[in-house]
Amino acid sequence: MGLPEILQMMLAKSPPASLRLSVDQSALASNWRALDHMSGTALAGAAVKADCYGLGVEACVPALRDAGANEFFVAHWSEVSDVARHVPPAQIAVLHGPLIDADVAYACATGAVPVINSLEQAIRWAGGGGGRCHVMVDSGINRLGLSPADLADPAIARLDIDILMSHLACADEDSAMNARQLARFQQITPQVNHRRLSLANSAGVALGSKYAFDLTRPGLSLYGGIPRPELAEVIRQVATPQAALIQTRQISAGDSVGYNATFTATHAMRIGVVSLGYADGILRAWSGAHFKYGECELPILGRVSMDMIVIDLSAAPDLREGDWVELPYFLPTAAQQTTLSQYELLTLLGTRLK
Ligand SMILES: *Cc1c(COP(=O)(O)O)cnc(C)c1O
Repeated sequence: MGLPEILQMMLAKSPPASLRLSVDQSALASNWRALDHMSGTALAGAAVKADCYGLGVEACVPALRDAGANEFFVAHWSEVSDVARHVPPAQIAVLHGPLIDADVAYACATGAVPVINSLEQAIRWAGGGGGRCHVMVDSGINRLGLSPADLADPAIARLDIDILMSHLACADEDSAMNARQLARFQQITPQVNHRRLSLANSAGVALGSKYAFDLTRPGLSLYGGIPRPELAEVIRQVATPQAALIQTRQISAGDSVGYNATFTATHAMRIGVVSLGYADGILRAWSGAHFKYGECELPILGRVSMDMIVIDLSAAPDLREGDWVELPYFLPTAAQQTTLSQYELLTLLGTRLK
């Protein structure tokens, strides 16, 4: 291709796609406010890692900011710049912490705040200039964070710690582990200078005010996840995959549909093809579920086949090519339907949807 063709290509606007993710920003804001309210005197932050659990930083972070959130948590340093387009870097905490010297340099250059998870990270941070940081201490999940035994190390005493935090392993269950982690966290906190304390994730917010401390860190429930029954009344659905019919056809009794021909029509029927599939996060586990057009249920026929799904149009016979249908994505029900977790259902949603 010569330069004129490349320019022409770049200037051409790609036409609207036949699939999209509807993100209900007012539900998102309402979920943050509900979690903030349930956090009592503590303020709710927002876990926005993994591109806001798959829903998109662009669509979510401004709505969370405008609702009142002012502490944002990402996992990787590579996630900082997208979030920093919408909020001050000093409000962005990087959960994985400074793993290499380049992370320290990046933190100093941008103002994003590291979460220190080990003595090595504490030394690396102080060695690179240091400054305000957060500290993750392990209270029993044995994932990321300093062991309580490490807290007496002089490398920790040298840190300027804003938030001292820990993470719950089983807050979505009525497990004795919750009270054990709470007790261990309470034991740990007087040993370290800090300005604020934080323990609860989404499910932890529902465990009551003892778990809230100064700041809660909901993620899943901001985006519509309901990990505990206490949240069912207050959390609204945020994400809904929608797709246009890209073809309709009439089939006869005996005709089969899709990969491996797992569905065979017992009578003549009108069917439609939607352009959603594996790469969009709509896995084979959705076979047996249905789409909706308004109140009409449109069952999925056979297998999800790569990036297409065939649905039964009997309940809405007037639907034509180009009409939009949606996949009910109420997370507790969808999790039961697919045996995927609510976390997986959100983070799987593919980039073509956005
Ligand atoms: C992801 C994460 C959260 C949010 O947890 P949810 O269960 O999604 O509410 C909070 N804190 C830390 C440290 C996390 O990694």
